[in-house]
Amino acid sequence: MIGARAALALFLAFIAAAPLLLAQHPFYITLMNYIALATLVSLGLVLLTGVVGLMSFGQQAFTGLAAYTTAVLTTLYGASPWIALLAALAVTALAGLILGLISLRLSGHYLALATIAWGISLFYVFGNLTILGQFTGIGNIPAVVAFGLTFDTAAKSYYLNWIFTIAALLAARNLLDSRSGRAIRALRFRSVMAESVGVDTGALKFLVFFYAALLAGLSGWLYAHYLGFVSPQAFDVNAGIDYLFMAVIGGASHVWGAVVGAALLTVLNEWLKDLLPRLFQQTGNYEIVAFGLLMMLLLHRAPEGLMPVFARLLRARTRGSRPPVLPALARRARPHPGELLLEVRSAGKRFGGLVAVRDLSFEMNSGEILGLIGPNGAGKSTMFNLITGVLRSDGGEILFRGERIDRLRPRQIARRGIGRTFQLVNLISTMSVLENVALGAHLRGRQGTLAAMLRRERKEEAQLLSEAAREIDRVGLGEHLYEAAGSLALGQQRIVEIARALCADPVLLLLDEPAAGLRYAEKQALAQLLRQLRAEGMSILLVEHDMEFVMGLVDRLVVMDFGEKLAQGLPREIQADPAVLEAYLGGIE
Ligand code: ADP
Ligand code: MG
Repeated sequence: MIGARAALALFLAFIAAAPLLLAQHPFYITLMNYIALATLVSLGLVLLTGVVGLMSFGQQAFTGLAAYTTAVLTTLYGASPWIALLAALAVTALAGLILGLISLRLSGHYLALATIAWGISLFYVFGNLTILGQFTGIGNIPAVVAFGLTFDTAAKSYYLNWIFTIAALLAARNLLDSRSGRAIRALRFRSVMAESVGVDTGALKFLVFFYAALLAGLSGWLYAHYLGFVSPQAFDVNAGIDYLFMAVIGGASHVWGAVVGAALLTVLNEWLKDLLPRLFQQTGNYEIVAFGLLMMLLLHRAPEGLMPVFARLLRARTRGSRPPVLPALARRARPHPGELLLEVRSAGKRFGGLVAVRDLSFEMNSGEILGLIGPNGAGKSTMFNLITGVLRSDGGEILFRGERIDRLRPRQIARRGIGRTFQLVNLISTMSVLENVALGAHLRGRQGTLAAMLRRERKEEAQLLSEAAREIDRVGLGEHLYEAAGSLALGQQRIVEIARALCADPVLLLLDEPAAGLRYAEKQALAQLLRQLRAEGMSILLVEHDMEFVMGLVDRLVVMDFGEKLAQGLPREIQADPAVLEAYLGGIE
């Protein structure tokens, strides 16, 4: 049983010592070089496919672009490899920019198809352009020179390749463990939630795509100077598929899985290429068949890839120490109590033939708890989605503090101080309670992905985590800080969502059935918390089924039925309203 730090130290020690240990076996050093180069590309895919869920079969095209750029510049124009590195990355970045802008609009399978298409087209571009040496490629690419060293042998290039690769691995690890990283990890399954806490999900997806392209480009540059030779075959579609396999086999969402997958596939590839033809007494690409079979077996036995299996063996400790208590973050200006806060004017939403919300109007003042009640399917959650911008109202207007918000995006609405929870719990179940709640503080931090990679945002990060811990204590889940959110009882998960919403320092809180699944004592604690929030000036719009809970808590009620407003008023008025009793309570008290 060793910790993650010790595992990392062991890995680094092994990488540093390998050339000495393997001095008698140059072939293995070559192999390790290939592993480093492949790790860089598959690391990009770990982020893009494993974490964000976007599948690319075209990373080899970026590798090729960079490799050819540096090959042309250094052989034809006599540029130094370092100048060529900048150019290669610039070309890759430009291609990533253009391809990202075009193809990230496509979703699901179409993105994968688009990446295959550009991979194939670039392969033929490389193969047919005379200046690129057509299918024979470009040779005599000079070795990289730095600090008076010429990296012209496998053993020397080894350190160059691995230094870049390890730097990229550490940067990616740092990135995922940061404010931006939390948002990135939300993109795959929780992008509606991510937008609701202010994350620009489109921009972030693009950024990850862009990084993945740059990593592939870096690999291409190293590759060209390491081999001294580039040809189109190294960048065909098969290579793209291999990279994807590596990321998936290694453990799609684990940074270190990139190394595991790259190592496994590279070694296996060599070994099978050697073994199988001897076995079958004739040459052929048997390794591809064997690969396919192995892959199926592996994905069947370890669908999350190999890294989680290793991580379990290592028992990497995930429990951190409690974040230090830091002074609270600055809070936004609150509206005056009683000020008109939210105005819904003739909002409507139609799903095909079904009218979920029809011509609904109501107002809310600052500092009140307004209950929005009605039978199942009355349109309450749809109304929440209209206010928070998840859905666009078919007509009418919604104003928040006098400003129209019905045409804004969810993240813009979040920025204005509206926080929410979801009826269907919307947490990242594998992430700790602390991190889930810290996601709520997204808009209270400013440090971006680059700062995160370089660990230049630790001070801000500590403040965000401290804020998150404070909100978790406040909702009474302080002892669950480091538990995976998915391991809590469903009722507690709803409370985690409230803490996440509070972490954004909202002015208006929208809670969709927060008490569902809570036990009696927990409901009482929740009611107490909501009262306290109101006393501090928070406004709360509450959808809830438990009538005892609602009636004892809210200042006013709006009753919905079949998408329309049936009644509104004080709790005792609503309780006595015959129409409400008829429709909502079915005539029974
Ligand atoms: P409530 O929260 O009051 O139980 P909802 O707002 O969830 O009700 O749903 C109102 C109606 O709209 C229901 O009939 C529901 O099936 C329908 N509905 C909600 N969301 C969608 C959607 N995205 N597409 C189609 N129908 C929907
Ligand atoms: Mg609902």
